[in-house]
Amino acid sequence: MTDLVTASPAMTIGGEPVTGPGTFGVINPATGQVFARAPDCSRDQLDGAMRAAQAAADTWRADEDARRAALRAAAAAALAAADDLAAILTAEQGKPLKAAAFEVAEMARWLEYSAGLELPRTVLQDDERGHAELVHRPLGVVAAITPWNYPLLLAGWKLGPALLAGNTVVLKPSPFTPLATLALGGILAGVLPPGVLSVVSGGDDLGAWMTSHPAVAKISFTGSVATGKAVAAAAAPDLKRFTLELGGNDAAIVLDDADPATVERGLFWGAFINNGQICAGIKRIYVPEKLRGDVVDALAQRARRTRVGPGTETGVQLGPIQNQPQFDRVQGLVADALARGATAAAGGHPLDRDGYFFAPTILTGVAEGTPIVDEEQFGPAVPVIPYRDLDDAVARANDTRYGLSGSVWSADPDRAAAVAARLECGTAFVNDHLTLQPYMPFGGMKWSGMGVENGPWGLEEFTALQVLYRSRR
Ligand code: NAD
Repeated sequence: MTDLVTASPAMTIGGEPVTGPGTFGVINPATGQVFARAPDCSRDQLDGAMRAAQAAADTWRADEDARRAALRAAAAAALAAADDLAAILTAEQGKPLKAAAFEVAEMARWLEYSAGLELPRTVLQDDERGHAELVHRPLGVVAAITPWNYPLLLAGWKLGPALLAGNTVVLKPSPFTPLATLALGGILAGVLPPGVLSVVSGGDDLGAWMTSHPAVAKISFTGSVATGKAVAAAAAPDLKRFTLELGGNDAAIVLDDADPATVERGLFWGAFINNGQICAGIKRIYVPEKLRGDVVDALAQRARRTRVGPGTETGVQLGPIQNQPQFDRVQGLVADALARGATAAAGGHPLDRDGYFFAPTILTGVAEGTPIVDEEQFGPAVPVIPYRDLDDAVARANDTRYGLSGSVWSADPDRAAAVAARLECGTAFVNDHLTLQPYMPFGGMKWSGMGVENGPWGLEEFTALQVLYRSRR
């Protein structure tokens, strides 16, 4: 590891590294020990970041070509530092080094994609009365707030379109995982004009200060439903624009013609990737009664042979749960299900070692009415729930306040697609779960979010429509 990892991380405000006076500890979830300290942004420092963002806005919004070039340079700079960024991410988030490297590469891919997006100008009228053109204007200063599961990737989802549209950004990572994002801020200070991107770190209060800050025109938030509602409430008095990407309780429905040996791998990794800490991962699996035994056996075998350990160890497939409160929550949900009569076909318990390690868990004998089915567990434990009637399974899949994504698994993709079309969610998959692309809009129905990210649709959310009318009378 280079200095980037070992040096005291700084915030980036107005293009300059800024530290202290306060700091807070960052825990390595593989050990449970504080291994670094991050700056605790003061209100004055946040004001400074907002002033810098406002000061940079006019020049930044004026030159679209310069913004494209800067975003491409940002992607290249991130890739050039990929080894360091991945090492920091593994240390603070817990995910295996390979997965951390993939996250860095994906973030860069998203930035590259954003650099190529168009801000269309549409002629609405062109006659003897006048000429009307529809254009997209930037909104101003964007407050971007991210969670702890994919700190870099989700930062990239926000930075690319926000900056391409001509906005300036103040970015705040989760206090559980501030370091890789702080490092990214330092790297991008080398390729972006001062003030265009500031990165600040601190606790949840800092997020609340950002969402009520008078300089902010738009909030781009990814996190839990509860915080999302607080963000929407904070935005209301000032009518700030906002996009909310929130939690999910995605259902996977296996159809009766599916081959358990064929679908189990996709089902397992759809649920357990990133240790189940993924908004749009499988959180409930519905299987026809006659396939229940085979599907559960296949998933349990895979769960037992999946290597869990520190993300720095070669061959490890799943790291620890990211933080103590989440570890306690997952443990509590699993214990509650077991106490109500569920069976752990695999796992069901923490690993007997330091850090927040939990055995990949497959639960049976559990149904709606149990919190691990009704709520978002966001961890390495998934319930497998039998059904007799497909209409009933679809109704149960949809009987939730969440609506992020869902999937249907079958030997007959057309039949599965017809079932998938009945799922009330932002993305409906057939024989897949979790394929996300920069050109596909991503967002949730119901409580899973408002608005979308990615593609031209995500870009539009960082703009205001303006009609430019020239009279010819
Ligand atoms: P969280 O809501 O606790 O925190 C998210 C971010 O919001 C953090 O940076 C936090 O400091 C900040 N924050 C906390 N209180 C705030 C407030 N009052 N005002 C403004 N900001 C505030 O979420 P988390 O525990 O970090 O992340 C897990 C959640 O995120 C899960 O529910 C998961 O499903 C969701 N998530 C959603 C998506 C998506 O794209 N839909 C992606 C990843 C994670």
